[in-house]
Amino acid sequence: MGLFTSNPLPDPVGDAAPPVDEHPSRITEVLGHLRRSADTRITHPRRFRAQQLRALEKMLAERTGEFLDALAEDLGKSATEAKFSEIDVVRSEIDHAQRHLSEWMDSTAVKVPLALQPAMAKVEPRPLGVVLIIGPWNYPLQLMLAPLVAAIAAGNAAVLKPSELAPATSGVLAKLLPMYLDARVYAVIEGGVDTATELLAARWDHIFFTGGQQVARVVAEAAAKQLTPTTLELGGKSPAVVDNQSLPTAKRLAYAKFMNTGQTCVAPDYVLSIGDTDALIARLGQAIAGFYGKDPINHPDYGRIVSRKHFDRLVGMLDSGEVVHGGDCDADTLRIAPTIMRQVDLDSKLMQEEIFGPILPVVEVASFDEALEFIAARPSPLAAYLMSESPRLQSIFSDRVRAGAIVHNAPLAQMVIPSLPFGGVGASGMGSYHGKYGFDRLSQIRSELSKTTVIDTLSAIYPPYTWAKRKIIDRLL
Ligand code: NAD
Repeated sequence: MGLFTSNPLPDPVGDAAPPVDEHPSRITEVLGHLRRSADTRITHPRRFRAQQLRALEKMLAERTGEFLDALAEDLGKSATEAKFSEIDVVRSEIDHAQRHLSEWMDSTAVKVPLALQPAMAKVEPRPLGVVLIIGPWNYPLQLMLAPLVAAIAAGNAAVLKPSELAPATSGVLAKLLPMYLDARVYAVIEGGVDTATELLAARWDHIFFTGGQQVARVVAEAAAKQLTPTTLELGGKSPAVVDNQSLPTAKRLAYAKFMNTGQTCVAPDYVLSIGDTDALIARLGQAIAGFYGKDPINHPDYGRIVSRKHFDRLVGMLDSGEVVHGGDCDADTLRIAPTIMRQVDLDSKLMQEEIFGPILPVVEVASFDEALEFIAARPSPLAAYLMSESPRLQSIFSDRVRAGAIVHNAPLAQMVIPSLPFGGVGASGMGSYHGKYGFDRLSQIRSELSKTTVIDTLSAIYPPYTWAKRKIIDRLL
């Protein structure tokens, strides 16, 4: 574990930030320091927020190479894919927040009922305080920094706990963030389960967790003890219903599934195929060969599985049906080729658990209705995809399917539009972020009412409740 709290700026509360230390009890000290700094409200002014967003942007622009090297080391990510999915996505969030910050921070006047006039009432987003951000390993940079953009924009201090399964990225983040951002109020605390457990025992104003459902329960339980609000960005099995076997459909599906080697929370988990499944599988194979050639596991644009544990878990799933494309594995390099399966066992782990790897089961269904029933019988996914040109099917799909996002013909594209909320429903999570949704999520939407005592208009409703007063109250309220 390492704590990074180096502080190039003057200390607002007089005591210097604790130095880097390896002992876990130092977490308490670091958090105490951060809390005291946050209590001085240095994160509140618009100028401070804008300046920190600029600093974050500067870090990403100046240190792109270091981040890309770390992502290649952790996950074998190709530089092109890593740049747009980890760095550019965050830069676009920063840019969007910078352009809309003043408007988001503005208070909104609301109408005061006649009975309370004259008075002024408004709604104003206020910072929450200190936010804990815990992230996963699959997009170890994006999923730390996109919530941080929301936290900064909303005027909060934040502690980032990156995943220990992407140690190179975690290390670079811990080294660079305090060099660019104000270390009095933003810190990176590296570590695994023990560190996360210690962090969860502390007092927070919001916990923003991205990860799996199992750990989410631990986070929610810890948060409940202190009544801390949480955002839980989880996963699940996102289905893709396909009634169009065209090559563009196959390419979009293959791209969304095999990007980051299938280790994407909103990747299509499985296909529900209506119609000519042979044609669909043939075109998926064609699309994969077009992207990654004849030997995908050695292609420079194709990554690797994060760990031996996940590699073994995925290889174990290959027995749950017929492998009709791919299936090659290399345990030494933790590579699994893009794989398509059919005739799969619906009770197997492949179809019961989130796959989170480059295996795409294709399940044949007799009708669109059967596909909808199949989805409805399972926990609500993070996204549901329909590959169809039929406006009628699109409309029924959007009406009947419960998922964090409904997407027609462009899986994954929903993620990069900052004006769309990103989050799950039911088992796939609670709360959403990106753009204004992130700002609102990490703000208190506060009511404010102001009335003068110079004219005492309220005396008409005070006890004793005479007949005349009751009449007035009835009329006014
Ligand atoms: P994970 O839940 O195992 O770990 C996430 C984080 O929790 C890590 O930082 C880890 O150190 C910490 N953690 C692990 N055990 C803990 C414990 N007992 N107490 C406290 N903290 C603990 O998830 P992962 O394997 O890193 O990521 C994969 C999961 O994340 C998948 O389910 C995927 O769908 C989901 N995910 C969701 C999104 C989204 O935006 N909704 C994005 C990416 C990944």
